[in-house]
Amino acid sequence: MVRVTVWNEYKHEQIHEEVRSVYPNGIHAVIAAGLEAEGQGFAVRTATQPEPEHGLTQEVLDNTDVLIWWGHMAHDEVDDHIVNRVHERVLNGMGLVVLHSGHFSKIFKKLMGTGCDLKWREANEKERIWTVDPSHPIAEGIPEFFELKPEEMYGEHFDIPAPDELIFVSWFEGGEVFRSGCTFRRGQSKIFYFRPGHETYPTYYHPIVRRVISNGVKWAAPSGVARPVRGNHQPLETIN
Ligand code: ZN
Repeated sequence: MVRVTVWNEYKHEQIHEEVRSVYPNGIHAVIAAGLEAEGQGFAVRTATQPEPEHGLTQEVLDNTDVLIWWGHMAHDEVDDHIVNRVHERVLNGMGLVVLHSGHFSKIFKKLMGTGCDLKWREANEKERIWTVDPSHPIAEGIPEFFELKPEEMYGEHFDIPAPDELIFVSWFEGGEVFRSGCTFRRGQSKIFYFRPGHETYPTYYHPIVRRVISNGVKWAAPSGVARPVRGNHQPLETIN
């Protein structure tokens, strides 16, 4: 069983009626419901920034196989101490799925080591997402392309390191393109970035988006391989 923690900064929903009307109990609640609806037997819990330690105590992280991250307007309010704690867990095997505006989160920028900036526009436009790596496990059951309307535009150049794998590419009605589904490996863990999910749009109710996130969680779950031993090492054979 994969233990998933869905983390949300949970701020827009408190102060913007436009967002609350789409996600009345928070974006995290809808992402969690989507994972449960996929019937993969995930053990799902949620955590939000206003909770003590942002809901990410050592105990929670030690019992999380995959962490999902949604943040936008309060990245700077995430405590560096908690970011370091998440970072340590990621390097030691916890999977991480970063959604939409999480591209600018402290944890994603720290793991990427680049600026992670991009173009953006809110114009209620159409996004057409192409599956460009159809044999990848995250693409399982996903059509050749699917469309979301309305969505926010994110455009290249996306300032990330070259992804280990590129699974989805988006085209927007206004003409831009974007690397929307990217994987990275850091330390012992796997990271999946997935673009859609602007807070004023019902994206996280969309069945294909839910399937992609579920596939991403399954893919990012720890493999169970023993932690590598590093440092000074005794020879396994007699050295003559
Ligand atoms: Zn957005």
